[in-house]
Amino acid sequence: MASGKVPTSSATLTCLCGAISLPGSYLKESHFPIESEICHCNPCRYSYGSLIPTFFEIKNPPPAPALAKLRKYQFTDVCARYFCATCGTHCFVDHPHKDNEWFCLTGIVELPPSIPNKPPNLVTINSHQYLADTLDGGMAPLFLDPQPNSIKPPTIFAAASRDPDSARDPTDVVTMAQLSLSHPSPQASHLNAKCHCKGVNLSIARADYTTNPHNVHPDKQPTNKAIRDKYAAWFCACRSCRLSTGSSITGHMYVPPAAITDATTGDSVVLGLPALNDSKVNQSAGLKTLTHYRSTESVVRSFCGNCGAYVFYCSVNQDKDGKAGDGHGVIDIAAGLLRAESGSMAREWVYWEDWVSHANEAVDQKLVEVVKEGGWKSVGLAQ
Ligand SMILES: [Zn+2]
Ligand SMILES: [Zn+2]
Ligand SMILES: [Zn+2]
Ligand SMILES: [Zn+2]
Repeated sequence: MASGKVPTSSATLTCLCGAISLPGSYLKESHFPIESEICHCNPCRYSYGSLIPTFFEIKNPPPAPALAKLRKYQFTDVCARYFCATCGTHCFVDHPHKDNEWFCLTGIVELPPSIPNKPPNLVTINSHQYLADTLDGGMAPLFLDPQPNSIKPPTIFAAASRDPDSARDPTDVVTMAQLSLSHPSPQASHLNAKCHCKGVNLSIARADYTTNPHNVHPDKQPTNKAIRDKYAAWFCACRSCRLSTGSSITGHMYVPPAAITDATTGDSVVLGLPALNDSKVNQSAGLKTLTHYRSTESVVRSFCGNCGAYVFYCSVNQDKDGKAGDGHGVIDIAAGLLRAESGSMAREWVYWEDWVSHANEAVDQKLVEVVKEGGWKSVGLAQ
């Protein structure tokens, strides 16, 4: 009996710019919350820019008028991804080898703000799949913290969840993460970040707050002052980030613009309003598919126009001289694009804070809780 539960028909499936807007009756399940697995596979992280993509099955393919506003990215026979051509929101996934098997990204589903009995979570995470791709366990360790009254932790699969032989013990996941924490400091001076299609291929100079050559504001430096060669990273649960990645919470690494170049040519990257207003910039090989969308008066977001990967959040609020930046001397890079040797969390380059911005906007409180309360510290993974 589903009485008291909020029906999915109350929801809307939407992209950031609103070009895509479908009724919640497209969802296969009738009530929230809906179970989903986190897919940790490399193609998902690299084409969404998200560390924790999750999906809801839908009853039917999106209608033709919606499909006409979406761009298709397909590199395999088994999966085609669709994102909004205007704002970059990844909306749908088709499994073309199966008859009428479509999914939406869970982050595009939202309820009206005024709805009574709003559920604390739209999604219930039931498993992790393709965890081996992360090398370091990704965010899975955060779900392991045994808390009073907590629900059963999601089950873990190194490969596809339909492959029971790939089931893994939670201790294996902690070991993966601990190994990544002790990964040697990189010899390389630059970290690579790129989308799945490689149309956006970036090089990020190592952090250096000792001399702080890029003049990064203390608010965007790691709170642990012993770490002077790592960029800070944390999560955001705001609506715009959710719709940019299609995921409830979005991990960002905070990097000064001057530290980011085209990995293929060394050219500097033009960001924010100057990039939005001049289509002739960013023409070098590693920047050529970078596409921009002004999500609010004060924010320009960038994504790959070919594979749809979310790439940058760039505030233009305090941009008096026309340069990119948010007054803290940083822009936000989607963590899902990082290509560190240690794995998906890039722990030899990045310091992860147990912090979620705009937690009050979160549609999945459980995900906020695992970051803020579960936390890496409690499973022995603090840096
Ligand atoms: Zn859109
Ligand atoms: Zn995947
Ligand atoms: Zn791409
Ligand atoms: Zn945000």
